[in-house]
Amino acid sequence: MKFDKNVIKQSIERYCKVKYGVKIGDATNVQILNALGLAILEEIIPEWEETEQLYDKQKRAYYISAEFLMGRALGNNLINLGIYSEIKEVLKELNLDLNDVENAEDDAALGNGGLGRLAACFMESGATTNLPLQGYGIRYSNGIFKQGIRPDGAQVEEVEKWRSDPFGLRKENLEVEVEFKDFNVRAIPYDTPIIAYGSRNINTLRLWQSEPKVEFDFMLFNSQAYDESVRESNRAKDISRVLYPNDTNEQGKLLRLKQQYFLVSASLQDMIRKHKEIHGDLNTLPEWAAIQLNDTHPTLAIPEYIRLMVDHEGMGFSEALANAKKMFAYTNHTILKEALEKWSMDLIKKLIPRIAKIIEKINWEFIEELKEKGYSTDQIDHYSIIQYNTVHMANLAIAVGYAVNGVAQLHSDLLKHVELNSWYKLFPEKFQNKTNGITPRRWLNYSNIRLTAYISELLGNEDWVRDLSKLKALEKYVNDDAVLKKIMDIKYKNKESLVNYIKEVEGITLDPESIFDIQVKRLHEYKRQLLNAFYIIDLYYRLKENPNMDIPKITFIFGGKAFPGYARAKAIIKYIGQISNLINNDETINGKIKVLYVQNYRVTYAEKLMPAADVSKQISTAGKEASGTGNMKFMLNGAVTFGTYDGANVEIVQAAGEENNFIFGLRVEDIEKLSGKYNSREYYEKYPDIKRAVDSLIDGTVSDGGSGEFQDLWNSLLVGSSWEAPDTYYLLADFKAFKQAEEKVFVAYKNKKHWAQMCLINIANAGQFSSDRTILEYAKDIWNIKPATLSL
Ligand SMILES: *Cc1c(COP(=O)(O)O)cnc(C)c1O
Repeated sequence: MKFDKNVIKQSIERYCKVKYGVKIGDATNVQILNALGLAILEEIIPEWEETEQLYDKQKRAYYISAEFLMGRALGNNLINLGIYSEIKEVLKELNLDLNDVENAEDDAALGNGGLGRLAACFMESGATTNLPLQGYGIRYSNGIFKQGIRPDGAQVEEVEKWRSDPFGLRKENLEVEVEFKDFNVRAIPYDTPIIAYGSRNINTLRLWQSEPKVEFDFMLFNSQAYDESVRESNRAKDISRVLYPNDTNEQGKLLRLKQQYFLVSASLQDMIRKHKEIHGDLNTLPEWAAIQLNDTHPTLAIPEYIRLMVDHEGMGFSEALANAKKMFAYTNHTILKEALEKWSMDLIKKLIPRIAKIIEKINWEFIEELKEKGYSTDQIDHYSIIQYNTVHMANLAIAVGYAVNGVAQLHSDLLKHVELNSWYKLFPEKFQNKTNGITPRRWLNYSNIRLTAYISELLGNEDWVRDLSKLKALEKYVNDDAVLKKIMDIKYKNKESLVNYIKEVEGITLDPESIFDIQVKRLHEYKRQLLNAFYIIDLYYRLKENPNMDIPKITFIFGGKAFPGYARAKAIIKYIGQISNLINNDETINGKIKVLYVQNYRVTYAEKLMPAADVSKQISTAGKEASGTGNMKFMLNGAVTFGTYDGANVEIVQAAGEENNFIFGLRVEDIEKLSGKYNSREYYEKYPDIKRAVDSLIDGTVSDGGSGEFQDLWNSLLVGSSWEAPDTYYLLADFKAFKQAEEKVFVAYKNKKHWAQMCLINIANAGQFSSDRTILEYAKDIWNIKPATLSL
């Protein structure tokens, strides 16, 4: 973007004056942030409008997602506009520091983890590849909770209000009304510009905020019934108040259902209004719109679309259903049983009775279809969208949607041949794979400026930023000592930066000379943070026995939030905190091992961790992690993957070579063979190191403060319960292989040159994990949309 420094300065000054009544010199960083946001908006709004008009001329795709884990906007927007250093200068001339202003921005943490971050990366890649792609989501007032770690290691949750939204534009003229059985609410869109890198296109993320139709009832207020008068108003505001902090597990809560319906009803009304304005004929909507459902959370969009057509537009039911079958596509994100979303019909009837009726009718039509195809009653029962008075959202999405995709090759194969095999047999043509990706702008240009500059220097230009496959050309430097050294120097500097940040926010000093071995992601049993912890306690015991043991210094970093109601996950965090206290305070090991659980892992923390990692820990039980995207961020930043043969790890090692990563443990087929026969106690009894590590939970090595949490963890591994076999995630079965793989890391790390070569080869082969590649595949294979670029 070209801009006049003085214009920006004057705008900042003006917005400080009219919005806050302050002079620049007296403004807080948050005020400067918001003023700068408005100043930039003012400059880019013409392009934003132009992009909209351009996209109106062709078919568009809409990505509906209950979550968008955007992180901060300012720095990334400046990078994509190509004005980061210019704005830094502008602020400097005003006696302001861009870093301080960036740090005044709260993360837009409107998501839990991978699924929400994927949606955010897709938005950015959609803009950068000039695709007519728009996002629809909910503008939660409170995103994911803020996590603290107590001195004893326990997680504490605090509400975090999202205070800054420097680019969100409230568009009251586009409000719509969402109707529930016994009350209606206003849905107000807030538009966030999604700025392309290297082109003038600006796409839109539209987030809905729920507001009451009348603020509060004056009659009631005047009669002193204050509570009553506020209640109605709160009931509306509640809908977009808070993000459910649950990752991979759905609970049938009424408020959650309200949120889902609010999101899809507002989004569809918006799309339909626009289509009517531009094209008039609603029958042509499927030619102009493809709608992607990010997981089953927005699946009510299907019956809501039919409702709007039939009840408001006078279309016949079969016509509306036929149109729906051409418009909706569904992405599956997980095969964990507890994540498959179901809603009780009674709840749906209570809240949105007309939608209940429409789902029944869709199901009836679907069953008729199956009967005609000659399916038996038993088979039909299995496929039914409604079973035992419960709506199976995935069944609805697959029965009506025209495409179903998994998010990594292994995951898509498991969907086809195992989890959704019966559906695959019914509709083989619907099933696809779309391996996830990450946007290189945020995850390299913005977060790792040192490596970015060096790559551009080596490749001679910045074309690789928009075509990440060009990184492949770096491979020719694999034997160039100067390049290898420089890459390791950059890694070291990034580690120093992380050390400084951690010193500031955690109060702990780390050693940048040590290996940074990092496992950051939501806390879940299947992700096996506990296996990593057992490895560490075993290493510690071995070092105590043999103080001269020859290992490189190593720092184990953990991070990630546990769902507040997930007791076992919280117990695991506490256990890691406890071993961290034990190990970090033991002077006899001379700081050879350190363990840290960083607090409040989020996008902004990830941006500091990824560039500083030596080892990326991706150790989920094979078959359980659909794809992972953290693994891709680490790879792009030159870390080696230490992981199981799971999700996108498989494709990572196919791309960069098994010899340049550390793959260990049971594979899907091994686990299939073991299932039903696995006995964790055999491992516990046979191997003293396994026994010692597991028993550290209960032998007084560490303490849960008398809560019994650690005994519960121990029981989950060795005793099980009536509803769950012991060690369902095969920690003990994989322990030995984990240990051997970590030994290989130690050996490899000693050979500095070889280590640098592995890092380089990983970077050079990370190109296919750009979300540009992913989004272009969706555009071509599912949405049938084409790029449209604003002229320069
Ligand atoms: C990338 C990312 C995730 C996803 O990590 P996985 O290791 O793929 O589970 C979760 N949270 C944040 C903040 C992220 O940036």
